[in-house]
Amino acid sequence: MPPITDLALDLPTTDDLAAVAGALLGRFGVAWPDGGENEARTPITGGALGSTRGATAADVDAAVERANTAFRAWRLTPPPRRGELVRQLGALLREHKDDLAELVTLEAGKIPGEAQGEVQEMIDMCDLAVGLSRQLYGLTLASERPEHRMTEVWQPLGACAVITSFNFPVAVWAWNTSVALVCGDPVIWKPSEKTVLTALACQALVERAAAATGAPAGLSQVVVGGPEVGKALVDHPGVALVSATGSTAMGRAVAPRVAGRFGRCLLELGGNNAAIVAPSADLDLAVRGIVFAAAGTAGQRCTTLRRLIVHESRHDEVVSRLAGAYRTLRVGNPRDTGVLVGPLIDRRAYEGFARALAEVAAGGGQVVTGGQRDPALAEQAPEAFYVRPALASMAEQSELVLRETFAPLLYVLRYGDWDEAMALHNAARHGLSSSIFTNDLREAERFLSPGGSDCGIANVNIGPSGAEIGGAFGGEKETGGGREAGSDAWRAYMRRQTCTVNFGRDLPLAQGVEFL
Ligand code: NAD
Repeated sequence: MPPITDLALDLPTTDDLAAVAGALLGRFGVAWPDGGENEARTPITGGALGSTRGATAADVDAAVERANTAFRAWRLTPPPRRGELVRQLGALLREHKDDLAELVTLEAGKIPGEAQGEVQEMIDMCDLAVGLSRQLYGLTLASERPEHRMTEVWQPLGACAVITSFNFPVAVWAWNTSVALVCGDPVIWKPSEKTVLTALACQALVERAAAATGAPAGLSQVVVGGPEVGKALVDHPGVALVSATGSTAMGRAVAPRVAGRFGRCLLELGGNNAAIVAPSADLDLAVRGIVFAAAGTAGQRCTTLRRLIVHESRHDEVVSRLAGAYRTLRVGNPRDTGVLVGPLIDRRAYEGFARALAEVAAGGGQVVTGGQRDPALAEQAPEAFYVRPALASMAEQSELVLRETFAPLLYVLRYGDWDEAMALHNAARHGLSSSIFTNDLREAERFLSPGGSDCGIANVNIGPSGAEIGGAFGGEKETGGGREAGSDAWRAYMRRQTCTVNFGRDLPLAQGVEFL
């Protein structure tokens, strides 16, 4: 743990940060985007670094047409050759890891270690996708008819629209793009309107990789703008797959529209993740895991720990140790050494945090520690929002606790027996990530059994955040049911085809049907 310090007091000016952003973009060969209606803001000061022009409906149409032209050539390219493009993208990401991570810090406010981790995740995804490009395997099935061969093969799907959230401004694009490209699909990316500069930098790298490997133009494109640009992609009949990452409200708007035109959706939506602390838990390990999962990334991860369900025999000890650890967290400019918690993304995020804290007291709960916005930093930069991560003790799992507040606010609840713990745990509307801290083998196994956690991700003696890319990532219920990254998540980007070949001289029909 770092030493106990107060909030970091000095913020740079927006002009200084804009100069850094300009220099970084230059290293990607991206000209400074100046003069559109979409402001690229930094949460470090809340100021505008620059602005970009948003895509129009005609721009979206043109992008979809370009993508489909590219698709017609790319789907015929052997997958291992498609993998070569992704291999070169991975090499460029390695070369530009520090620059891209610094841009992530400027635009999303992540501390450098986490920003570097995000870019590393992109590199790991490229490595995984290159291997995958030689393993897009199908099945051979037993045919009931003599001299017939039946197989299941996977074909490229078509243009994929990738809509992403601000909090993983580059990794989510890489999860989708690295796999979609080896599967034979072009990608049109609609990044969050809050993180456009990082998107332009990634686009420059993939264009360089495409040029070096002779890939068709239009395989990877970016369209900038807010929800209206996302909607144009969602409704476009030329888009085969909409992979959308963001809030459950966004998914609720997107899913029926895509279904209405029989398109395919891959949804990665909100989370309200819990951890159970059982009587046998190793608290040294649990406290570290909980603090990272709840306060890391300023509580702005889909997998952030939001509900802590503690056995009554350990409750007071856990709360007191967590409160002590929370007070040591240094909050401030993420570019300053030693800072562990950067700013919230914007005023709206802060207002959601403040509203939830006010409801804690109104609902009979108690804020144990944290929740304050630093007045000195607020005076320096009224549109920057630095808050102390908050811990709130709750008497019951109210509607407030069941809501995803996208900020560092951890609710603590107590339980008496196993059934009560699981009922509290699975009562969330979301179903993304979950964990249990226990040294009891039976409890650990029960948590991972059908009657245990109902989430897409379930961990033992690890917090709910910080997944490895080798596994399939995603969640159930209001998290949307999508899976991305490793395992067999690649199948979402391909269409399944069942093929039967008759190599005999007769024409036996299935199910013994006689005709002619
Ligand atoms: P958001 O829903 O506000 O925006 C996400 C993206 O969707 C943006 O690009 C936005 O422009 C676009 N969008 C919004 N409404 C749209 C519409 N009607 N049609 C088409 N596009 C639309 O989310 P955010 O604030 O950027 O991100 C935070 C949320 O994302 C949290 O709820 C978090 O849990 C979730 N998230 C989930 C995952 C996951 O993998 N499950 C990962 C990261 C973030």
